[in-house]
Amino acid sequence: MKKMIFVMGILIVLSLCLVGCGKTKEKESTSQPQYAFYKKDKEKRYQDYQKQNPDLSWKDVLLRVNIGLDQPYYTNTQESKHLYSNYVLVNKYTYLKEDYIPKNLVVIDSAYSKGGISLSEEAQKSFEEMASQAKEDGYTIRAISAYRSYDYQVQLYRRYVEQDGVEEADTYSARPGFSEHQTGLCVDIDDGVFDFNQFESSKSFDWMMENAYLYGFILRYPKGKEAITGYQYEAWHYRYVGKKIAQYIKEHDLVYDEYYMEFLDK
Ligand SMILES: [Zn+2]
Repeated sequence: MKKMIFVMGILIVLSLCLVGCGKTKEKESTSQPQYAFYKKDKEKRYQDYQKQNPDLSWKDVLLRVNIGLDQPYYTNTQESKHLYSNYVLVNKYTYLKEDYIPKNLVVIDSAYSKGGISLSEEAQKSFEEMASQAKEDGYTIRAISAYRSYDYQVQLYRRYVEQDGVEEADTYSARPGFSEHQTGLCVDIDDGVFDFNQFESSKSFDWMMENAYLYGFILRYPKGKEAITGYQYEAWHYRYVGKKIAQYIKEHDLVYDEYYMEFLDK
C-alpha cells in the first residue's frame, strides 16, 4: 500500500511538471515567430500595420510591409533587383529604368502569337512549348502582347490617363518603368476568337489554370489578391518565373510579390 501511494505520488509530481512545462511552451509560441525576412528598420511599420490589420498573421504583416503595401502606391520606390534574370520583381514599388531592355529577346512563333512580339529567350521557348501542347489538347493560346519598351508604356499610360484619369488608369495600367511587360517575361493572351478581356470564360483559360505552372508561368494578378498585387484581376496576363517557383506559388496560393519577399528579397 505504501509503495502504491509512493508511486502515485511520483506520478502526480511528474504530471504537474508536464503541465508546467507545457505552459512554458505555450507562452513561447504565442510570442511573434521569427522570420528571416524580418527587417529591424521596419519594426515600427510592422507594428502599425498589424494594428490596422489585426486579422493578418505576423508573417503576412512582414511580407506586406516588405512589399511596401503599408504606404501608398508609388511611394518609396526603388529600382528592381535581380535584373536580367527570371526573378526580377516589378510592381508599384519597384521599377526598371528607362534604358532597361532584356538582353535576349526572341520573337514568338507567329503560329502562337499575333506576330512580331517578343519574350526573353527562356520564356519564349517555354511559351511556345505551352501553346503547342495546348493546341495538341485542342485549345488555342495566342500571345497578343509581350515585351513592351519603356517608351511604348509612356504612350500607353498617357492614353489611359487621358481616357479615364490618373486614379482609374492606375488600377489597370502600369506607369512607365513599373510595367512587368518591360521585363520580357510576361505575356497577355487570348483564345484566338474572343477579346482578351473575355479570356476568363474560355476553355483555354481553364487549360491555363491547370497547366501553365508546368511551363513556368503564373497568373500574375489573380482574383481576390488585388490588395497585394495592386492590380485588378487580369485573367489574360501571365508571368514567367520558371517551373520550380511556378509550382511552389500554385501549391501555396501565393502571388509573386509574396514569394519574392519570402525567398528572393536579398
Ligand atoms: Zn499584361
